Formats: sequence, C-alpha cells, structure tokens
Amino acid sequence: MSQLQERIEQFRKMANDDPDNELGHFRLGQLLMENGQLEDAVKSFQRTLVLSPQFAKVFQLLGQCLIQLNRREEAVKLLTEGYVVADEHGHNMPRDEMGKMLVSLGAKAPESKKATSAAGATGDGFHCQRPGCIAGSHAHKLPKPPMNDDLGRRVCDSICADCWNDWLRNYSVKVINELRLDLSREDHQGQYDEYMRGFFGLE
Ligand SMILES: [Zn+2]
Repeated sequence: MSQLQERIEQFRKMANDDPDNELGHFRLGQLLMENGQLEDAVKSFQRTLVLSPQFAKVFQLLGQCLIQLNRREEAVKLLTEGYVVADEHGHNMPRDEMGKMLVSLGAKAPESKKATSAAGATGDGFHCQRPGCIAGSHAHKLPKPPMNDDLGRRVCDSICADCWNDWLRNYSVKVINELRLDLSREDHQGQYDEYMRGFFGLE
C-alpha cells in the first residue's frame, strides 16, 4: 500500500468512526482528490459541506473536482454559492479562486459585497485565514504564539483566538486519539502538525 493509500484508509476510518467530524471528511476528500479518486472526493466534500456549510475552501475543492469530472452545470451552481459564502466571511483567497473558475466555465462571478476584507469588521480588525473561521469579522488575534516554533508563529499571525480555542477544545485530543498519536515521536508530531495546518488552512 502506498503512503497516500495508507493515509486515505486512516482518514476513511476517522470519517466512519466520527461521522459528524467535518475535518475527517475534509481531509479524506483532499487525499482522495490527490489520488485521482474524484467521484469519492466529491462525496466527502459534499458531506463536509452538510456539516459545515460555511467552509469556503471546500466549495473551491469540490468545484475543482466537478470541473475535472465535466459536471459543468453542478460546478457553476456550487461555485456561485461558494463565492457568496466566501465573500460574506471575508475569505478572499478561495473567493477569488472560485471567481476565476466561474469565468473559466463561461459563467459570471457574483458581485462581491466586500471587495476588501477590512470592510465591516467589528473585531480588532484582525483577519483570520481559517476557511470557515467561526469568528468572521469579529476575529481577535492571539496574544502570543501558542507554540514556540514556526507553526506557532504562523498560527499567531494568521489564525484568530476563537479558532485556536476551537482546535484546542474540540479537535486536538480527537486527532491524537483517532490517529493514535504519540507526540514524543517526531513522525507522529509531524502528522499532528500536518493535521493542524489542514484544520487552519495553512497548507
Ligand atoms: Zn478564526
């Protein structure tokens, strides 16, 4: 079994054991996509969106799969919806990518209500990069990096305090248990960090 297939099995298990965890489905979808299993990736991404309908990055990846599968009409409908969601939450990167895809499909991107991310912010003006950030325009920056390494500094620079706490309270232990990680081992720490980067969209 290749390493990619092994990881797919790992996340398939995670998605089955914990079917309401959108991140298991999301990571499974990404890995299936990487492995060219587009029909299966579509199902995982669709499931992710049922659980987390504001997860902008998922719209983008699902749109890419649909385009590659020549399901044009579905792609246009989904990307139009995704564009609006991403725009509302200030996720400019996936929004602009989806805009480009819509144009490449001969469709039109919806009008952006917030061309710049600063508009309408009521938090401390900090913009969180996590796709599907739970704080949106109310985001606050972490007071200091949560870990004393590069990843910790990246999290502090780009992820809001609410999303960090969401990870810590709701997902971190789950990931350690589900993937049976022993964080004293370097390869396991690497997997944990990779999962965290996936969670925050820091890839
Ligand atoms: Zn956030």
